[in-house]
Parts: sequence; C-alpha cells; structure tokens
Amino acid sequence: MKSIKKPIVIVGAGFGGMTVASNLKRLNPSLPILVVDSEANFMFKPLMYEVLSEELPMWEAAPEFSDIFSNSGITFLRNCLTKINFDENILEFSDELKVGYEFLVLCTGSISNNLLVKGVEEHCYFFNNLNDLNKLKTFLLKIQKDNIKRNLFIIGAGPSGVEIACKIYDIHENKFNIYLVERSNEILSKNKIFNREEAEKALENRKINILLNTTVKEISEQKISISNDSGIQDLDHDLVVWTAGVKPNLPYIDEKIAQKDGRILVNENFQINNYVNSFAIGDISIIEGMEDLPLTAQVAMQEGNHLAKNLELLCLEKELLPFEFQDNGEMISLGIGEASISALGVTLSGKFAFEARRLIYASKMPAISKTLKSGASWLFQKKSFLNQFINKYPKEV
Ligand SMILES: Cc1cc2nc3c(=O)[nH]c(=O)nc-3n(C[C@H](O)[C@H](O)[C@H](O)COP(=O)(O)OP(=O)(O)OC[C@H]3O[C@@H](n4cnc5c(N)ncnc54)[C@H](O)[C@@H]3O)c2cc1C
Repeated sequence: MKSIKKPIVIVGAGFGGMTVASNLKRLNPSLPILVVDSEANFMFKPLMYEVLSEELPMWEAAPEFSDIFSNSGITFLRNCLTKINFDENILEFSDELKVGYEFLVLCTGSISNNLLVKGVEEHCYFFNNLNDLNKLKTFLLKIQKDNIKRNLFIIGAGPSGVEIACKIYDIHENKFNIYLVERSNEILSKNKIFNREEAEKALENRKINILLNTTVKEISEQKISISNDSGIQDLDHDLVVWTAGVKPNLPYIDEKIAQKDGRILVNENFQINNYVNSFAIGDISIIEGMEDLPLTAQVAMQEGNHLAKNLELLCLEKELLPFEFQDNGEMISLGIGEASISALGVTLSGKFAFEARRLIYASKMPAISKTLKSGASWLFQKKSFLNQFINKYPKEV
C-alpha cells in the first residue's frame, strides 16, 4: 500500500466530485479526502425545474455541503480554486490559501456560454446554477400578480430550453407569449427520438412558438434581434432566458495543459497529460481517442465511480483500469407533473414517467445527514417505493 502523506483533493463537489468522494471513502475509509467547492450548496441540476415550479422545495434539490459532509469522515472546504502548480502539487485559492495534494481530482463543471452574442451577459437570465435559479424565480414571483401579457424568449431548444419553456407555461398559463428560438432545424437534436417526439407534443399542447433555423444577433434591454429565412427582425421582449450553450469552467488552467474544444484532454484513466497523479472528470474533460461523451450528470457519475476505483488501485500500487461508458438513456421533464423517459429499451411518458423520474433522482441524491433524510422530504418519503421502480426501470439515467 502506497503511503499517503498529503490529502486526496477533489475540487468541485458536483455530480463527479460527490461520486468520487463518497465511493472512495466507502472503498477505503482510512484515506484522507478533502473536498473543495466555491459554493455552500450542492446543486442537483436536473431538479432545478421542479424548484422553479415549486413542485420541490429548494433545500431538497440544493442541500448544504455542511449537512452532506457532517460525520462523513470527509473534510469539506468552501473555497475557490484559482491556480494549480502541477509540478509541486500545490493548489492556490482565492483567499491565497495554499494546499498540497497527493492526488488531485478536478471536476468544476460548466458555466453558461454567451457565444459572444452582444447583450447576452447584460440582458439575459441563465439557468445553470443556484444563483441563476434564484434570479429567475424572483423575477417570476415579482410578476405573478399582474395581468400583463409578456413576451418570453428562450434561446436554445436543447433539454434546458424545452424544460424551462414547459414549466414556465404551466406556472404562468396565459401570462407569456413563449418563443423557443433554435439555431438548428430541430429541437433536442442530440436527444433520443422518443423524448424529442414527446417534447414536440408537450410544446404544441402549450402553444409554445418554436422558431427553428433562427439565430440571435443581439439583445438589448427591450429588443431581441433574430435572423432567419424571413430576414432580420427586431422584436420586443420582457424576458430572455439564455440556454444556448455551456463551456467548461476552467479559469485556473493555463495553456501548458493539453485541451480540446476548451476541455482538459485526459487519457482513458482520466489522467491529465504528463501529470499522472492529477485527474479531470465530468463536463471539464474530454477523453483522448474516445467518442465525445455528452455533458451530463450520468457521464460525470459513471466517471466519478470509475475514478474512485482507480484511485483505490493506485493506493494499492496496482494497475489502473480504462473507463468504458454505458449509455443508460435519458429523462426530461415536460411541464408540471409530466416527463418523458427513454432508457435501456423502456419508454415512458406523462405522469407515470414524472413519478419514475423523481424516484430515480431520489436514489441519486448524495448520501445526506439523517436529519434531512427523516425530515419532511418529498424525495426521501418516497424512497420506500423506490426499490419497486429501480427493479423495473433503469438506475443511471
Ligand atoms: C438545468 C440543468 C439541468 C440538467 N439536467 C440534466 C439531466 O436531466 N440529466 C443529466 O444527466 N444531466 C443534466 N444536466 C447536466 C449535468 O448537471 C452536468 O453535466 C453535471 O452537473 C456535470 O457534473 P460535474 O461534476 O462535471 O459538474 P457540476 O455538477 O456542475 O459541479 C461542479 C462543481 O464545481 C464547483 N466549482 C466550480 N468552479 C470551482 C472552483 N474554481 N473552485 C471550487 N469549486 C468550483 C461548482 O460550485 C460545482 O459545485 C443538467 C444541467 C443543468 C444546468
């Protein structure tokens, strides 16, 4: 067994980081693990839509790290990584703290990408983290009581755009003319056909306007400029939600580290080129020689699970095993109380899919303190039904 003098440091306690930390602790409880995150709360991103629609209270989808890690044997530090000295194994944080590491795991996720479109940063709402969720929720609450019909533009018809459009329609029926703007010629272009068809029906039932083959040129305080076959149009808007893309969150990485499409290039063991004790997983990394994997929680968790096993092998001075991805399918929410699932040959839609989706997600929540688990939690009250579902339906979607 290798002697570990400094901690194994995991930076970013999202889906990838939480999975590495909890699995590694379970495999080898004696290892010193330090988890660092710049935020105070874990954000279960696939449930942000349910928090927006108040189907789920905030604390269930965004539990505090202090609760998650209490009595876990894992040390948690709230701090923001700003620089890495890979040669000397030292991390630097925003308050000038320096921390040494034996092994380093980076998994700092994605941030919204404005695609350099003028006015996006200043005039759009985003939907990528707890802060974005709170801002959008505050705006929707503010206008809840008035009777003005507003123009809402949602940019990007990927899962986030489609899910937000359906939820906002259901929360505020008849309050918005909703326009879903998409640059390509179809919605959910990277998703399963079944989910795409269910989403098309859900959008049609809600009379949401879909503008395909349409590019956003510029956004100002009151106008949005779009371009399509009909030419350039300047339209009035009251709210623009930008879900057109994300980019890796890597302000602490310099050009010495090999990258592809802005993501850290790693080998099939997630090792960063030339630095065999440093790893990157989840949205920030891309595996050399492998087909690009989607930016999903499913991928980040499978990678985290595999990396935990490899770190244990490294500590035992054994050979590492290469990662293989298993596509377990996908789920999307489609308005209040509705969802669509396409996974491992099973397709489900409507209310039953909605229940199944929430129950599957309940099983994915990080192991949190007994107080939270036994409290008035919807997710954990329903856990007694969970086994019935996960015996029948897929686990890692
Ligand atoms: C609204 C929404 C819905 C989604 N729905 C689904 C879904 O249904 N299914 C699915 O599979 N995927 C879904 N995704 C995608 C999924 O959430 C991401 O792919 C996944 O979270 C990536 O995991 P990660 O560990 O790479 O990063 P994240 O889970 O984003 O975690 C990154 C962590 O790093 C921390 N961090 C960032 N920078 C620093 C720093 N410098 N120092 C310290 N800490 C830092 C952040 O605070 C964060 O906690 C959704 C994403 C969004 C935004």
